[in-house]
Amino acid sequence: MAKKGLLLCVCQGTCPSFHQMDVFEVLNAIRRENIVDFVSLHPQLCATDGDEYLKTLTENKDIDELYVAGCDPTMQAKMYRDAFENAGFDAKKHKGVDIRNMTTEQAVSAIKELINK
Ligand code: SF4
Repeated sequence: MAKKGLLLCVCQGTCPSFHQMDVFEVLNAIRRENIVDFVSLHPQLCATDGDEYLKTLTENKDIDELYVAGCDPTMQAKMYRDAFENAGFDAKKHKGVDIRNMTTEQAVSAIKELINK
């Protein structure tokens, strides 16, 4: 069955770009809306273990849409390309949104807008 998931990626949690928001509240707000099947937080998807995480996750053929809220979507697409290729995951199923320098409310709205597009 087709599943939709949201990943939050936060530059290890140390980058000031993510300090105006409560990342757990962002995830909880999306969970309360019930608009995706799963959510998770990864500190650094563009690191080697982030690649492994993405590959392992997207080997699941049930995933139909994978939303990633973090840095610029074009950067995301470049950085995740190998992991998706290695998993046999169609990169078109990945949709990114830049939530850097946003408050919790702004990040939630940007993510909802992406999911409801
Ligand atoms: S993928 Fe983007 S948001 Fe995630 S750690 Fe790397 S630069 Fe930061």
